[in-house]
Amino acid sequence: MPLLEWRRHIEHRELQVATLEDITVKTLLSEEELQAGVARMAIEIAAAYGERPLTIVGVLTGSIVLLADLIRQLDIPLRVGVLQASSYRSGATRGALTINSEMMLDVAERDVLVVDDIFDTGHTLVEVVAKLKELAPASVKTAVLLRKRGRQEVDFSPEFVAFDIPDEFVVGYGLDYADQYRHLRYLAVLEPDDLASDRS
Ligand code: 5GP
Ligand code: MG
Repeated sequence: MPLLEWRRHIEHRELQVATLEDITVKTLLSEEELQAGVARMAIEIAAAYGERPLTIVGVLTGSIVLLADLIRQLDIPLRVGVLQASSYRSGATRGALTINSEMMLDVAERDVLVVDDIFDTGHTLVEVVAKLKELAPASVKTAVLLRKRGRQEVDFSPEFVAFDIPDEFVVGYGLDYADQYRHLRYLAVLEPDDLASDRS
């Protein structure tokens, strides 16, 4: 089946509204939709690698929930490691990205799959992939839960994308706002009123 048929293109629609502490959020993807999207992406990944052992590198912190669900959908030989990528953003200005790979597995001569939460401008994944390539892996591919439409500033696209979503700030399923909401089982849109100018 062609890749595009597997991918769920998420459009604006009537969203379910839930009150979370003192703010109101709209559900963009339910728990069931997220699970289905991750399962579809796992099928694509397994088909791409077959029996070749895979080294998965999760990008902390946003990928933790995806990583835990994705690896349990993959019935292929694999190892799991993590690295941390963090940038400080202020308004529209993109801060410098820091990559901490001290906790990562060795990747030399391995087939590496980088797993991240969201592909937005794309700078984070481009820098992570460049850093990994310095370590002489056999191959590097990338998988993300979400790709935001119309935001990319790089000539690069992840090989595996579970959902294409509208350009809105989302939280839940690993994604945070000011270190909160990562534990939501669904993906929610934060209203602009609830957003200050900084995101991490
Ligand atoms: P990029 O470098 O692709 O612009 O940004 C990727 C990182 O920015 C993501 O890993 C995530 O940490 C953050 N990010 C981008 N868009 C969103 C969003 O809508 N919600 C949240 N919580 N983080 C986002
Ligand atoms: Mg991130």
